[in-house]
Amino acid sequence: MSEVVQLTRTIYRASFMLTPLIPLHVHLVRGERCAAWIDSGVKAMFPQLMIALKAANVAPEKVRFILHTHAHHDHIGCNAQMQDATGCLIAAPAAYAAWHTDFERHYQEFARPVPDLIPDTPALRDEVLSVLDAPRPVDIYLEEGVTFDLGGAVLEAISLPGHMLAEFGWLDRASGVLILGDAITGLDWPILHGHLSVAGYRQSLAKLKRLIDAGEVRRVLFAHFPPMSPSRTRQLIADAERYLAEVEATVIRVLASQPAVTLEAIWTQTCARLGRQREFRALSTVRAHLQDLQARGLVEELDDGRYALR
Ligand SMILES: [Zn+2]
Repeated sequence: MSEVVQLTRTIYRASFMLTPLIPLHVHLVRGERCAAWIDSGVKAMFPQLMIALKAANVAPEKVRFILHTHAHHDHIGCNAQMQDATGCLIAAPAAYAAWHTDFERHYQEFARPVPDLIPDTPALRDEVLSVLDAPRPVDIYLEEGVTFDLGGAVLEAISLPGHMLAEFGWLDRASGVLILGDAITGLDWPILHGHLSVAGYRQSLAKLKRLIDAGEVRRVLFAHFPPMSPSRTRQLIADAERYLAEVEATVIRVLASQPAVTLEAIWTQTCARLGRQREFRALSTVRAHLQDLQARGLVEELDDGRYALR
């Protein structure tokens, strides 16, 4: 799939297959005064993003912003090319601003959460870095509730942490369209897509449910899922809640199987039990669950660094 489609009167979508199973969608919102990209995809998508501008009849100088959901490599990969082509500003969460300008730090903090367990290899570097074009600083730091008025389309930042410690969705309250990055993660991928805060993820799912129940959302657009109705999104949220519970229960079962367990063994055995690839995102995820279980008083970290049920 490599295509541009018009989704609403004001929103166009460019799509790209990251893997044979995982699509990546990047959305263009066209206002009367200016236009904004929600994220910029991977660097190979740039020609397609320009095709989307043409299809939407948006002149390059009308693109005023890239409004980011989060700083992961597959969401910021065309920032330099797009800024050079349009002069747009880059708006993103402050917490990860360094990931936009220091790709070595992006790689180390994202892919090597526990450096002793994740070797620094050319293949891993390539996986993370090959989709990025060039460093570009963040021009605007986002906060919950800030709005960007494009003329006829006003996009409001909705804080939805969990997948990363800082992430935003973009809500146009007039049309009821909510555009998400990875606030709801891939649930049935061969990898664990990953979340860094279990409590944050649970709270963000609850917040999304409240927005839908309040009638604020009429359509949801995703980076890695097809567009969904409110009721379909409710089902996806329920699936995500079950997924979180399943990962948590699996970590607890691994801990219950031995008196004390190393992080490496919990990671390895959780992936085996869930049938997911043992890679860096799973390690970050398992560690986030251990931190969450510790905060809730269910797990302790022993002096030797191993973990045990309390
Ligand atoms: Zn992500």
